Amino acid sequence: MKKQNTKYIFVTGGVVSSLGKGIIAASLGVLLKSQGHKVTIQKFDPYLNRDPGTMSPFQHGEVFVTEDGCETDLDLGHYERFIDQNVSRLNNVTSGMIFWDVLTKERRGDYLGNTVQIIPHVTNEIKRRIFQVAEENDFDIVITEVGGTVGDIESLPFIEAIRQFSFENRDDCIHIHVTLVPYLNTSSEFKTKPTQHSVKELKSLGIHPDLIVCRSEYPVATEIKEKIALFCDVKADSVIGCVDSDSIYKVPLELEKEKIDQVVVRNLGLRKRKNKLKDWIKYTSIIDSKGLPSVNIGIVGKYNLLSDSYLSVVESIKHASAANNCRATIVWVNAENLEKSDSMDALKNLDGILIPGGFGDRGIEGKIKAAKYARENNIPYFGLCLGMHIAVIEFARHVAGMEDANSTEFSRDCTFPVIDILPDQKKVRQKGGTMRLGAYPCQNRPQTKLYEAYQCETVSERHRHRYEFNDKYKKELEAAGLVISGTSPQNNLVEVVELPGHPWYLACQFHPEFKSRPYKSHPLFRSFIKASLSK
Ligand code: GLN
Repeated sequence: MKKQNTKYIFVTGGVVSSLGKGIIAASLGVLLKSQGHKVTIQKFDPYLNRDPGTMSPFQHGEVFVTEDGCETDLDLGHYERFIDQNVSRLNNVTSGMIFWDVLTKERRGDYLGNTVQIIPHVTNEIKRRIFQVAEENDFDIVITEVGGTVGDIESLPFIEAIRQFSFENRDDCIHIHVTLVPYLNTSSEFKTKPTQHSVKELKSLGIHPDLIVCRSEYPVATEIKEKIALFCDVKADSVIGCVDSDSIYKVPLELEKEKIDQVVVRNLGLRKRKNKLKDWIKYTSIIDSKGLPSVNIGIVGKYNLLSDSYLSVVESIKHASAANNCRATIVWVNAENLEKSDSMDALKNLDGILIPGGFGDRGIEGKIKAAKYARENNIPYFGLCLGMHIAVIEFARHVAGMEDANSTEFSRDCTFPVIDILPDQKKVRQKGGTMRLGAYPCQNRPQTKLYEAYQCETVSERHRHRYEFNDKYKKELEAAGLVISGTSPQNNLVEVVELPGHPWYLACQFHPEFKSRPYKSHPLFRSFIKASLSK
């Protein structure tokens, strides 16, 4: 079934991967939303995993969790942060999901004896997902980003599906193709051939781009854009420059200067309205201010080679720094190195220490050393999920005298399992999508750092975990001085712990990083950065 009046924008990429299609889709979303349109952004991921929940952050970067508890691609985090709006499980579609659904229908007998094929069964399933996301909230505009690079075998069913979709909804669709325009230093010139080839490839699959966004290291001259327009068969004003930027949050304003939104609304037959970008202008001007005080924030983790693994945490720190009118420098501390070393020099110049989420026992003892160092040296400490487990284990061992306190995730038969598997998780056998996921409420205890930060009694935050504070040790740890400042109202799970008498030592079971937005920074990050700044 087709929703009336919705417009569809498809974003594909060519030449190479990692061109920042997600940021471009999100930035276009910002511009269209600022004009008063109801916009959502969807991502197609052509891999066979059902979702990225079971993938290593080394390979795939962070797993972003939606309010409704779906483990999704990190681009959905960009979408939420940019358009300042929650997305749902409908916004991330993988090949795995599509095939899963097609095969479930096949087993049920839904195809009534037909041979089940990529065309039409798989493509129909993909097209259904585009309508489904549009109908979810009666959106005016759906932007759909197709992951991967045009020409990949994996993405062919998605490309074919959007080709059919545009054919069937001709007046309501446009295609944006993002390419790379490299600059050759040796001959001092831009090269348009990769773009020409990429567009040729896209056309060979039946899709004619309406706009071409040129990613480049330096601004692309008008003559080059005109050349691309001529060779690729698009209007000259539909070749949009998108030069590398020192902050992703400048991209919406850069694309506005290139008038991408004007070309898009013209092509979709929408009326041009004024952009309202006050918040963006203000936010980016803070990023650019000179002479801001700086804070060094250490992130102690094990996926440190790729900051994408902790993407939302890094973005939240940036938002909170802007809110505090300072600039944070992130110092990556490798937990495994810390574990092996006798020296704590790696932590010496830090104004704040953050331990993010994680799984498995690698580097755990290093993280415990970092938490101890923060506690003993009055350095602001912020623990997220695993970072809360670390804080509780450290406190139990070194303050409450429970010598081999641990989490049963790392040591099944320790004497003091202060962190233990959630009762509901005991019977879980399947790994994918079975953690405690998504938004749950948390009750904040007045007169705590937690309450001070949020300034309210109940909040809702997103979760992704199997292990929890073990209630059996609550009394003993509280008696030793640990403050339980946040609990889940339904089942009394410990959600937040903190240490009184310390400048700022707070650790939460949930992941606040998923809810921070550039000019609406998260209260806990804001409070943590503030404390780090005054250290
Ligand atoms: N590994 C821990 C658990 O499963 C923490 C998870 C996390 O940090 N997201 O509970």
